[in-house]
Amino acid sequence: MSVLLKAKIAEVFEEPGCNKNQGKSEKERKKGCTKQLSPGAAAGGCAFDGAKIALQPIADAAHLVHGPIACEGNSWDNRHSASSGPQIYRTGFTTDINELDVIYGGEKRLFKSIREILEKYNPPAVFVYQTCVTALVGDDIEAVCQRATEKFGKPIIPVNAPGFAGIKNLGNKLGAEALLDYVIGTVEPEFTTPYDINIIGEYNLVGELWQVKPLLDALGIRVLCCIAGDGRYNEIASAHRAKVNMMVCSKSMINIATKMEQRWGIPYFEGSFYGIGDMSDTLRQIAKLLVQQGAPADLLDRTERLIAVEEARAWQRIAQYKQRLAGKRVLLITGGVKSWSVVAALQEGGMEIVGTSVKKSTKEDKQKIKEIMGDDAHMIDDMTPREMYNMLREARADIMLSGGRSQFVALKARMPWLDINQERYHPYGGYEGMVELVREIDRAIYNPVWQQVRIPAPWGDDGETLGAVLPSARPMDFLTDVAAKSLGLAPEEVTS
Ligand code: SF4
Repeated sequence: MSVLLKAKIAEVFEEPGCNKNQGKSEKERKKGCTKQLSPGAAAGGCAFDGAKIALQPIADAAHLVHGPIACEGNSWDNRHSASSGPQIYRTGFTTDINELDVIYGGEKRLFKSIREILEKYNPPAVFVYQTCVTALVGDDIEAVCQRATEKFGKPIIPVNAPGFAGIKNLGNKLGAEALLDYVIGTVEPEFTTPYDINIIGEYNLVGELWQVKPLLDALGIRVLCCIAGDGRYNEIASAHRAKVNMMVCSKSMINIATKMEQRWGIPYFEGSFYGIGDMSDTLRQIAKLLVQQGAPADLLDRTERLIAVEEARAWQRIAQYKQRLAGKRVLLITGGVKSWSVVAALQEGGMEIVGTSVKKSTKEDKQKIKEIMGDDAHMIDDMTPREMYNMLREARADIMLSGGRSQFVALKARMPWLDINQERYHPYGGYEGMVELVREIDRAIYNPVWQQVRIPAPWGDDGETLGAVLPSARPMDFLTDVAAKSLGLAPEEVTS
């Protein structure tokens, strides 16, 4: 690991906004917070992945991955982060290095790739991501980016977060450091207002930011920039002129908020757009901080009036579902900020939470869950797919809300499931999103398919159901089941 990268990681770990970090001794702090990845274990993304997730939603910039083609993964799109205009961020640019580059170094290829992107697409900036192989062969992306910036007269930003540096969360922070080092503060906005805010850690997944922006517009609050959902390079470069920063996704980019406070005196707070109560609190917090920063005091009254109208409207629309969902038990397998913000939202919908996973949650997230749920009895540190399956099969939960990876567990148990993670297709932000979430849960639970897959099969003589013979999520399992049935054997005997 280069000296520069080591120093940067040490700097990221010295986080004044993280209580856990501040509670450690000097020696413990030096060790850092990152967990070493276990080879072969699904670790949930490397540091490069984390940096790219954090920055790729900057919609008008090109994102160039310097490394083997496999690091880029997808040649198109990211995690449903929506843009209201430019689409260049969705193109997967990579230098696709080969064996010769590993021997002779890939810096020339990187320089040529930057030139090609600028000539063909002319974006306002190019982000260049370091990966393991190019870091190990010693490619100096900072030097190449500096040379390219001088030569082409456009900002070329190095993002030094090779995969081996650590986990995804560290990558988020290293991505944020690239913004702090090379972007924020480099452009002056055309004008400023007393109502300018930045939203940090919001990725505009499936357009969630657009469910919140009309509320801010109604109050005359301007989102100077969002980091990074539906972001524009020049807006982010002028973020230092905002009056208030809001942190959305817990601690993933806290270093931007704390350093902007140190450098430009911009106060920040942590809020959530999920759930009616949390959305209202967030609006109140923004208004309060803006008034403290010099905005006219009538903003507070206007905010309360807007909250009253929006809350009443949302409750009215939820009422029809609330009756049908009252007492329904939900198993929530997600992480981070969603482990508590969605809990509050579900409780508002009249549902009972039978468990919420806290594997990827911070100490603060856990504290918030305790406050909302009264105790920590329903926090699940780690749940194996079999335990999830048993819980659903024994009907201890009526629906599971999770990411795409766990969906097959619910489907195998023939229980409803709803995607709550980044691959979801429905936005759940703000008052509008809460209504959408409740509507989707209702649609999932009352979908007639569940009755059909649970009725006994006409040929079943031992309680076999139709759902049991539907193609399983994994084709090999399905084929094994079919082969076992036709041979009159148990599935284990077929596979052995
Ligand atoms: S761990 Fe390294 S090689 Fe693997 S995807 Fe991440 S950057 Fe690429």
